[in-house]
Amino acid sequence: MSFPPLREELRGIEPYGAPQIDVPVCLNTNENPYGPSAACADDIAASVREAATSLHRYPDREHVALRTALASYLSADTVAPVSTEQVWAANGSNEIMLQLLQAFGGPGRTALSFAPTYSMYPEYARDTHTRWVAGRRSDDFGLDLDAARDLVAAEKPHVVFLPSPNNPTGTALEPAAIAALCELVGERGIVVVDEAYGEFRRAGTPSALDLLPQHRNLVVTRTMSKAFAAAGLRLGYLAADPAIADAVRVVRLPYHLSSITQAVALAALRHAPELLARVDDLRAERDSLVAWLRERGHRVADSDANFCLFGTFSDRHAVWEGLLEHGVLVRETGPDGWLRVSIGTPAEMSTFKDALERVTKEIA
Ligand code: PMP
Repeated sequence: MSFPPLREELRGIEPYGAPQIDVPVCLNTNENPYGPSAACADDIAASVREAATSLHRYPDREHVALRTALASYLSADTVAPVSTEQVWAANGSNEIMLQLLQAFGGPGRTALSFAPTYSMYPEYARDTHTRWVAGRRSDDFGLDLDAARDLVAAEKPHVVFLPSPNNPTGTALEPAAIAALCELVGERGIVVVDEAYGEFRRAGTPSALDLLPQHRNLVVTRTMSKAFAAAGLRLGYLAADPAIADAVRVVRLPYHLSSITQAVALAALRHAPELLARVDDLRAERDSLVAWLRERGHRVADSDANFCLFGTFSDRHAVWEGLLEHGVLVRETGPDGWLRVSIGTPAEMSTFKDALERVTKEIA
């Protein structure tokens, strides 16, 4: 027996996480490169000052003011308004996913997604003792709907994760495919469309929020970590049928969202136009990076997110290391041969491009 007396299946497992290396150009965790303005930071500080005077009290367990503000933010991005009762928030969309599996997964139940996809899903499944099934995406990283249907029919999952745009590929899903899988899963399970990168989608790509009125088993998750430039805040949320939001309350820790988190998130939402102002710039920067990479003969997955997956390299680790030597950190993830780069400022992207040109020449 070795110490500590860990659960058997957790022995020897490395904790998940991208390397946090101090480099000049950090393009490995899909953060927004533009931080809050001084005015926004002052407003956040004043809100924390105010919340500090009642720190002897527990926070609002139901975080109603925050849910109302998030509902009104979402309502501007969808065809049917989203109500407070449809929204639930937690410490990052990571915690939202865990709560969803605690409530709707568990022993004897199955969660399913299609790889390559966000590598945390199987970890949430493991941590909640939920059986994990991974189907495959097609070669262009989209969903082969017939194959997806067959897998769902065979495995009868209780939770289906459909990230759109997907990480690490950037691929958005057709609403018709999401709707078809919602129908197939039926009331036996839930379909979670993870829209962590939703605000970066290209013009004409709809949000799954539009499908909420027609599908009671659909859950759309969002985060303030990416487009909202608030990764350090840890605030993720879902929109779904009120019965689903209500059910999650059974598994949440008491007072899981601190009064400081709630105050900061509310302050950030008051500054939404400013924090989101750079999204259009980042989308344009993404499209021009995709074109630039393709002009140089690289393969690039179509991206609706604030990153793109490019390749393919016979030794991707050598390219990753070479970029790091030039002070640029990207992510070694996705299928073999591919690398993922987050969209940074124009200056950061030009450093990345120079570094990539040099590294690919050195390696060739
Ligand atoms: N979903 C996807 C697809 C992600 O890529 C990430 C973060 N990289 C998350 C969820 C979690 O984000 P957060 O917990 O910061 O909201």
